[in-house]
Amino acid sequence: PTLDHLDAALVDCRACPRLVAWRELVAREKRAAYRDEEYWGRPVPGLGPADASLLVVGLAPAAHGGNRTGRMFTGDRSGDVLFAALHAVGLANQPTAVHRGDGLELFHTRITAPVHCAPPDNKPTPAERDTCGAWLRAELALLRPRAAVVLGAFGWQALLPVLAGAGWQVPRPRPRFGHGVHVELAGERGPLHLFGSYHVSQQNTFTGKLTPAMLEDVLRRAAHAAGI
Ligand code: SF4
Repeated sequence: PTLDHLDAALVDCRACPRLVAWRELVAREKRAAYRDEEYWGRPVPGLGPADASLLVVGLAPAAHGGNRTGRMFTGDRSGDVLFAALHAVGLANQPTAVHRGDGLELFHTRITAPVHCAPPDNKPTPAERDTCGAWLRAELALLRPRAAVVLGAFGWQALLPVLAGAGWQVPRPRPRFGHGVHVELAGERGPLHLFGSYHVSQQNTFTGKLTPAMLEDVLRRAAHAAGI
């Protein structure tokens, strides 16, 4: 299959009953507030080209961001911060991402997540994480990533087992998350440079825990490690 086939199959996935119920409930309740657009309410596929050598990995779509627009990190404040930074370092053609079809293009970069449906309280269960990890493993098999920026400790913890399942050697004890942390994982298909960044949530960006300069710095280092 190609990445397009994978994405087309993903958006029909109903493997996690709790998440299916939640994503559809949110969409039903909020549709009236967004009458002029389709409220997605389905699994959100990865975003970016098949030749991407850099991954940006969150944990899961936000209920009123990706779950509304159908596009990773699009349509909320977290995404505003992320896309501005991607544009600042030359990985996106525009600094904003409003909805699908707004002309956004990513360069050598794919944004994805270990969980593709919006979870209540942004917290997937371990079972949901494991179930959806199969989609990310399949996605990784179709890509040739050389570096990844992981946004937040929860995404980091969810991604490591997926990377181990996809053929990269994850040391024991597992490397710890931190902003600016860089770990090189050996793998059957070449090494993967893993970078940690604080999540782009408003909790971090409003308080100044994560500044645009801090995020851009990690993205620049990761792009360099990815050979971009
Ligand atoms: Fe399917 Fe993943 Fe959504 Fe679960 S979280 S229903 S595995 S797409």
